[in-house]
Amino acid sequence: MTLVHPEFAEELDRFGVDTALECFNCGTCAAICPLIYEHFPRKMVRYIQLGARDQILEHPEELWRCLHCGLCTQTCPREANPGEVILGLKRFVVDHWRRN
Ligand code: SF4
Ligand code: SF4
Repeated sequence: MTLVHPEFAEELDRFGVDTALECFNCGTCAAICPLIYEHFPRKMVRYIQLGARDQILEHPEELWRCLHCGLCTQTCPREANPGEVILGLKRFVVDHWRRN
């Protein structure tokens, strides 16, 4: 069963992810991303907003698709910094693996 973790956004602070709540879900990042993959990276930002921690841990390989080209961050109309969010989520996943 997938649980919702309302504190997830706060938990990510120490991995350098502190901008996800700025996202207003416009989809610009998903439109510009060269991966053209299932609304990436918008959906990862949305997972944080929804506290879908388990979803990220169950499918971490999605994060490693990112090319770190920075286009999403450059075009984001807010300061949600989706490129850095992806990088921080990778740090979170690696830390989780290290502890478990
Ligand atoms: S940094 Fe990653 S998520 Fe952002 S546009 Fe580039 S490949 Fe897509
Ligand atoms: S471009 Fe920015 S505000 Fe729009 S969905 Fe992506 S992260 Fe959110």
